[in-house]
Amino acid sequence: MNVEGLTGEHYDGLVNYRVDPHGERVVVLPAICRAGRHSLVVAGYRAVADSAGVAVECQACRAEGVSPAAWHFGTAGPLAARAEFDDQPYLDRWTRSDAARPGRR
Ligand SMILES: [Zn+2]
Repeated sequence: MNVEGLTGEHYDGLVNYRVDPHGERVVVLPAICRAGRHSLVVAGYRAVADSAGVAVECQACRAEGVSPAAWHFGTAGPLAARAEFDDQPYLDRWTRSDAARPGRR
């Protein structure tokens, strides 16, 4: 599946947002890397947001040459002020990958 404006070999759909108790827009990123192998906070990650969307790359997968090493999300609406990690909105996304699949609910 390709979406115009996004580069990369795959596309993981739209990124999720939530609004915190202060009314601030927060972008929610998955806590586990695209390959389902690492905690991004532990392994290290690089998040890049631009007009095309947001990419979150796992540094460990990148170092090991694992592909895909990054999530590629489309964005919608204004840029979020903050980012946080939560796997919950993304539990179905790994099923599109042939890589390791975390346990499904
Ligand atoms: Zn990884």
